[in-house]
Amino acid sequence: METTAAFAGLSCTDCGAAFDARASTADAATHRCPDCGGILDPEYDYDAVDLAREDLQARPFDGLWRYEELLPLPREAAVTMNEGTTPLVECPALADELGVARLLIKDEGHNPTGSFKDRGATLAVSAAAEHGASDVALPTAGNAGQAAAAYAARAGLDAHVFVPSRASFVTKAMINVHGGEMTVVEGRFADAADAYADAAESNDWYSVGSFVTPYRHEGKKTMYYEIAEQLDWAAPDRIVYPTGGGVGLVGMYKAARELRRLGFVDELPGMYAAQSAGCAPIVEAVEGGRSRHDPWETPDTICGGIEIPDPGASPLIVDAIAESDGGAVATPDEAILDAAITVAQHAGIEMGATCAAAASGAWELAERGEFDAGDTVVLVNTAAGNKEDDVLRSHLMGRGV
Ligand SMILES: *Cc1c(COP(=O)(O)O)cnc(C)c1O
Ligand SMILES: [Zn+2]
Repeated sequence: METTAAFAGLSCTDCGAAFDARASTADAATHRCPDCGGILDPEYDYDAVDLAREDLQARPFDGLWRYEELLPLPREAAVTMNEGTTPLVECPALADELGVARLLIKDEGHNPTGSFKDRGATLAVSAAAEHGASDVALPTAGNAGQAAAAYAARAGLDAHVFVPSRASFVTKAMINVHGGEMTVVEGRFADAADAYADAAESNDWYSVGSFVTPYRHEGKKTMYYEIAEQLDWAAPDRIVYPTGGGVGLVGMYKAARELRRLGFVDELPGMYAAQSAGCAPIVEAVEGGRSRHDPWETPDTICGGIEIPDPGASPLIVDAIAESDGGAVATPDEAILDAAITVAQHAGIEMGATCAAAASGAWELAERGEFDAGDTVVLVNTAAGNKEDDVLRSHLMGRGV
């Protein structure tokens, strides 16, 4: 695999073992830890990162590969559609309502397939191509499958996507449109994951599943690089993130530590996980003072993108929240849908039900007095609101509008 100068290989977040990712495909570590099965994370020699803030300021804001010195692969090896470099939109009316100085929405709906899953897909599919894979595969709640199908199509690879029947029509339709092979599994995300695991046993597929490949959480890092750069190299005081598997939260927190290590930004942002009360294993773990979650028994929320009852990376999520002095908050679906409508009507931004968990969570945190009047708060709008237009409209009509 072709790699960047500072990329030093992969290390296991469980046992600490280090692996070469540059070695020939036969003996390179590509997914989980060969020793213990733990999650692998890309490592860098930060002293070898030849990059200054001025270098970035001089570059066009033209996609996440502009941060290539801090990514494992060079831009020239990337399967890319110039994803990332999304707007960070100032929302003064919402800031007033929350009682904070600034409220900004990182609007990930601007990505090629309409969600921030493109940031993970560009890295994971690029790695798959570099590793000589012919087929990529994953279980997904929907958006990650749409992104994988799109990037696989661009790379000339076959995609095998397992989605639960409850996934939105848009994501299922577009997986087809990109030419992906789609298996729709009756039920919820866990059912799709089981069906995927069965099928993967008898197929030579390259997994692009979250926290199975080391490269999806790595791609999500770039969301935070952009936020910091868009704030003129300052950390926001809080980032509220709609959390399912926690890929984005873990990735952004790594980025925050990297920027501090590089001397680009001195502070760390407080990381907040927002979930639906219908599936809140991370919130339960944080409130109970535990370092890992207990699987959620009966997941039941309209927020399909974050209905992840058994998030395997919970220790990393809980660590990021604790170290950054952040928090975790769950709100009921009714409040989440109301928040999506409020954001659409007071700020114009289209936020789907899943993403609105971050808005609803921020309101709840504000009510609990968690925010200070001088705070800069960022909400991550992980996908375009019109991916869930039907859900929002029926909620509106249910209110008699
Ligand atoms: C996948 C997804 C999430 C949750 O992502 P994680 O980083 O795994 O927690 C949130 N919102 C949307 C729209 C998603 O598609
Ligand atoms: Zn290990």
